[in-house]
Amino acid sequence: MVNREKIEQAVRLLLEGIGEDVCREGLRQTPERIARMYEELFGGLDETPRTYLEKTFPACGSQMVVEKDISFYSVCEHHLMPFYGKAHVAYLPQGKVVGLSKLARTVEVFARRPQIQEQLTAQIADALMEHLLASGVMVMLEAEHLCMTMRGVKKPGSKTVTTAVRGAFATDDRLQRQFFSMVK
Ligand code: ZN
Repeated sequence: MVNREKIEQAVRLLLEGIGEDVCREGLRQTPERIARMYEELFGGLDETPRTYLEKTFPACGSQMVVEKDISFYSVCEHHLMPFYGKAHVAYLPQGKVVGLSKLARTVEVFARRPQIQEQLTAQIADALMEHLLASGVMVMLEAEHLCMTMRGVKKPGSKTVTTAVRGAFATDDRLQRQFFSMVK
């Protein structure tokens, strides 16, 4: 659980550290505001994807299910700056499917944590494999990282693309090509 008091203390120290006056009007409520905001941004730390993936529906057929352009917002664990973009998620069902909104919920559970994009991609794929007993999963994330575009090399609009393949997607190129043509 988020400890708001610790976050408030930390934000006060941070502001002092950059040479700000924490008592001035505009900053007085900032530590408290950030504490509340972080509770939401990092709410995924208290969640498990099981909550969303345990209710499934029987289904025949094993055709690829794709949910594309799922918007997500996460926070880079190296700089605590946002990275955000689109997630594309596909799985090959084996007798059961899950409500489509639950795929987006799964993305959110892992996005709302301090993250690196590669790990976020892998965690989504592994959760879907585990809970849906799918015969294959593929996840692709395209994101802009503010720690890249706002500072340092400053390349606004540049995207980082990551993929994770599991099961049949890892061994069958045709499935991967089908996925790419569907999310394009
Ligand atoms: Zn970063």
